[in-house]
Amino acid sequence: MKKAIFFDLDDTLLWDNKSVSVAFHKTCAYAATRVNVDPLKLEQAVRAEASALYDTYETRPFTQMIGINPFEGLWGTFDDPSPNFQKMKSIVPVYQQSAWINGLKNLGIENEELGRELAEYFPKMRKESPFVYEETYEVLDQLKEKYTLLLMTNGSPSLQNIKLEITPEIGPYFDHILISGAFGKGKPDPSIFEHALELVGLKADEVLMVGDNLMTDILGSSKVGIQSVWINREDKPVSNEVKPTYTIKNLRELLTLLN
Ligand SMILES: [Mg+2]
Repeated sequence: MKKAIFFDLDDTLLWDNKSVSVAFHKTCAYAATRVNVDPLKLEQAVRAEASALYDTYETRPFTQMIGINPFEGLWGTFDDPSPNFQKMKSIVPVYQQSAWINGLKNLGIENEELGRELAEYFPKMRKESPFVYEETYEVLDQLKEKYTLLLMTNGSPSLQNIKLEITPEIGPYFDHILISGAFGKGKPDPSIFEHALELVGLKADEVLMVGDNLMTDILGSSKVGIQSVWINREDKPVSNEVKPTYTIKNLRELLTLLN
């Protein structure tokens, strides 16, 4: 008998991938009004440039451990207290500008001024484009009655809190909100799952973890004996190493599974 459900946030309840894509589409469409560029090619170039650049910074091990991806780096400010976040805060303005400047350059467009402008435009577009899966609220409404709900999300507190501010309906469903950057370790580290169990005052077999990421949500819960539900909306390939307890394609299936 489960007493609590732990939920991942990005691409489990919030459709972060779509928000990032829409922010890219809007920013690259704007770029195309200023210079002769194919918006789709610019998006590809900037995504590639951002991913490659992100790996070169000394903060990379920290962002990996906390769970902050290159595209979050393109709109986060990382105004969080710890020294590692302060280092990121000092790096990201240059990172964000370089990703756009170099992306343009890779398409033969030398225009640093436009690159800097796009670097400022993208975060605005990301904040204007929150998306929630169509079944998120209806499922949370039903679960809220019967279970303790804990949100466990990898990322910087400032950035994850902005996501919760621009989708204000999500936060109030949860009895606890645990952000890896505030805790100090991210999923799949067992310590964050153990901390979550302490917060709800329950044993591993009394809770269920729901998430979209095999290597963080599912792997981490398996390490501490928490049963897991993998939400695999996009038919991602299964893994031989990481095995969720259950797999679903839509959050509504969670209600059936719990009954
Ligand atoms: Mg996720």
